[in-house]
Amino acid sequence: MTDNRKPGAPVLDVDHASVSYRGGAIEALNDVSIAVYPAEVVVLLGPNGAGKTSMLRTITGLLPFNGGRLTSGSVTFEGKRIDGRPDWSIVRGGIGLVMEGRRIFAGLSVDDNLRAGGINQGKSAYKANYDKVMALFPRLTERRSVAGGMLSGGEQQMLAMGRALMQSPRLLLLDEPSLGLAPLVVEQIRQIIVDINTAGTAVVLIEQNASMALSIADYGYILERRRIGHAGTGASLLGNESIRDLYLGLSSTGQRSYRRARRGAAADPPGTPGTSTDLTEASS
Ligand code: ATP
Repeated sequence: MTDNRKPGAPVLDVDHASVSYRGGAIEALNDVSIAVYPAEVVVLLGPNGAGKTSMLRTITGLLPFNGGRLTSGSVTFEGKRIDGRPDWSIVRGGIGLVMEGRRIFAGLSVDDNLRAGGINQGKSAYKANYDKVMALFPRLTERRSVAGGMLSGGEQQMLAMGRALMQSPRLLLLDEPSLGLAPLVVEQIRQIIVDINTAGTAVVLIEQNASMALSIADYGYILERRRIGHAGTGASLLGNESIRDLYLGLSSTGQRSYRRARRGAAADPPGTPGTSTDLTEASS
């Protein structure tokens, strides 16, 4: 579907993907297709268990580490099939992932966290990416020698995003970047996502803060019971009454989360890019 989409061939094309866990005992996605066009922000919404995280794992090659499998369908990035490829090759190939929970190295300084993000790069690429990240996050520049675990929740989220950007991804996947952050900080994160996207990186955003997410979405998909229930531009989804009722119902905070505050840990593997591998992992 190309109606109301940005021009060009899709950067990411997940085509009729079906995913299950535990040898097929649990179905997570049933024949789901999503696409991301160049420089789009695409938002993925849906209630608990709808399959959002499974979609991110499908794109990033993390399903096998979680006991899952793509049983049919395909994932194509910049015209090349990537399903079946190992996660590290997908990350090096241009897809960055910031997982839920801002998994940074708590015991390492901001600088060292960023160094870990750019570990496989030559000196000049590393320097260029480091400078870009510091320009995007002036707050991290001020805190560059502070340990990750001493940062505020918002700063940790910036660090997690900065670390993913050290690979200069052409597509950035963000899993609930606003989770647990104060409204003012959420606004900063929102602006940073806009800035990253304006600089040319396509973004897939999973959010519990549906109004924030849809306000910056070029396009959105709503997963319902393992399938796409609705799809459309951010503006059209925001204007859809049943979606407003379900995802934007007002509460005392002005927004209703459809996703519980913190998912039970269906663990991603140690060593996963963008995650902590030590026991001092920061989580705010
Ligand atoms: P949530 O908002 O609760 O994180 P989600 O939309 O991200 O939900 P998924 O986590 O992808 O949904 O879950 C989709 C289905 O797959 C659910 O039934 C879930 O219980 C199941 N599932 C997810 N991860 C695993 C796993 N590692 N092993 C077994 N089942 C899983």
